[in-house]
Amino acid sequence: MAHGQHHGPGEVSRRDVLRAGAVLGTAAGTAAALGGAGTAAAATGRGHGGREPERLALVNGKIHTMDSRNRVVSAVLIEDGRFAAVGHGVPTHGPGLRVLNLRGRTVVPGIIDNHNHIVLMGNRPGHHTPLENAYSIADVQQTYAARAAELPAGAWITTIGGFHVNHLVPPDQAPRLPTLAELDEAAPDNPVYISQAFAGPSATNSLGRAFFEARGIPVGDDGSIAGGFGASPTGQATLALRQTLLTDAERERGAMEAIAYGLSLGVTTHLDQGAFQATNTAADGAAHEDNYTMHLPFLRVHRAGNLRARVRINFLHMESDPATPELVERLRNAFPFFGDDMLRTGGIGEFIAQGTGEAFVAAARRVAQARWRAEVHSLSATDFQAEIQAFEAAHAEFPITDLRWVVAHVPFITEEYVQRLGALGGGLSLTGWRYLAGTPTGNGPPFRMIVDSGVPTGMSSDGMQIAPMNPWLHMYYATTGRNARGELINDGQQISRQEVLRLYTADNGWFLREEETLGSIEAGKLADLVVLNRNYFTVPDEDLKRIRSVLTVVGGGIVHDDLDGRGTRWRP
Ligand SMILES: [Zn+2]
Repeated sequence: MAHGQHHGPGEVSRRDVLRAGAVLGTAAGTAAALGGAGTAAAATGRGHGGREPERLALVNGKIHTMDSRNRVVSAVLIEDGRFAAVGHGVPTHGPGLRVLNLRGRTVVPGIIDNHNHIVLMGNRPGHHTPLENAYSIADVQQTYAARAAELPAGAWITTIGGFHVNHLVPPDQAPRLPTLAELDEAAPDNPVYISQAFAGPSATNSLGRAFFEARGIPVGDDGSIAGGFGASPTGQATLALRQTLLTDAERERGAMEAIAYGLSLGVTTHLDQGAFQATNTAADGAAHEDNYTMHLPFLRVHRAGNLRARVRINFLHMESDPATPELVERLRNAFPFFGDDMLRTGGIGEFIAQGTGEAFVAAARRVAQARWRAEVHSLSATDFQAEIQAFEAAHAEFPITDLRWVVAHVPFITEEYVQRLGALGGGLSLTGWRYLAGTPTGNGPPFRMIVDSGVPTGMSSDGMQIAPMNPWLHMYYATTGRNARGELINDGQQISRQEVLRLYTADNGWFLREEETLGSIEAGKLADLVVLNRNYFTVPDEDLKRIRSVLTVVGGGIVHDDLDGRGTRWRP
């Protein structure tokens, strides 16, 4: 352990105390929601070296509640994992009350990401290190050097997906990956693997190159590893790392780190949309995993009381056989919306079948008959038509108007089809994924038209391969229409900061079927909120990208704390 930071035996750091409190707070929130007789005991009876206050007051803030009146208040009281008072009736002293003076900071509800791939991120091989907040090669080096400083020599540092070279290099320079020499400079004692989007290209340093070359995987002198779908060198490299590094314990660590990274950005709830089924060959890309086992690390973390953000899980089905035998068994044998406030199953998505033809129509009919939620995505100028027509056909036989079916991404959807989906009780999940690599023709979605349509609409990242999880990048794109190179590519479809934040919070409750308990800061709702480092509503556009959480609360427990400004990173 060459570089690790450790506390001596018996020493307890501030973070350890917060961590203990976070677990307790989360457990209390769940217990309170379940309404069991043991709720009070669970909320007050345990602690590690100091009892977590059962009541938390946040005062002197600019707290944007996102309630139906867009109230902004200065104080809230949290009790037993829920908001107990908002604006009025917040005490500033009393027994068992912990008071945090926010000193004018901006507070928003916990961010809900209604479509991402957090489970894939949690199952990455190596010490996965997001590069979504790096804006130059120097930033990449700094990120990796900081990561290396907390790891033993020889431990793999990996970044698989979630970034693009367009974003890694300032707009006045040519997009590129870092070189072997640059990666060596940042992390000389740790092998590094950095792989863009679904299938590369990728790059490595000297230690990584030795590992790959020993396995016959070609690496350029500059550390480059060719990308591409199929059994490309990137596919071989990712497979070799998965087969060498992934254990149950490593996956659990990865799951906790993925959640902790989200909390550092203010993401308190994730709706996971599954993976392409792994083949365990070099044809697998960053978005492939085993859909039947990849949730187990998250289930184990939850069972141990360490799941600090809320996770909702959709089941992805992508069969080309119109008989859809696996989907049939899922609908017979699984439970939609089963679990607790922290971890719960969802519907079928983000695929219900392969393509939009016969299998899709058959799958839609079966999902409607079973009365599950269906979620699909649209990427082309025509696929949404076939999808919504199939929804209509299913609806004619088995009505879906109360099932909240969703079409996501929709870069080119038309107003006619927005209204046809709305007539089925459906909704649209929007995302700013075009931010990384979008162009004036590869643009969309039409945020303005869709928000004005009145059809239920929410916001998501579609992280972690083709897009970053960081919600503030998506809010930047939705409000400016500019991509990572600074080009205006979605002009005329911008929405306001208030509008996109509402999509990412209160309006996303609908997508979870949990709008009564999540998404806004209102008395009685689950106490999820984020204290921001900057005023989201007034910073210049470019500074939106630098918005971070300095304090994240989930179910009344503090699960991320950088209030002292010491740069607490996103580790659990
Ligand atoms: Zn997706």
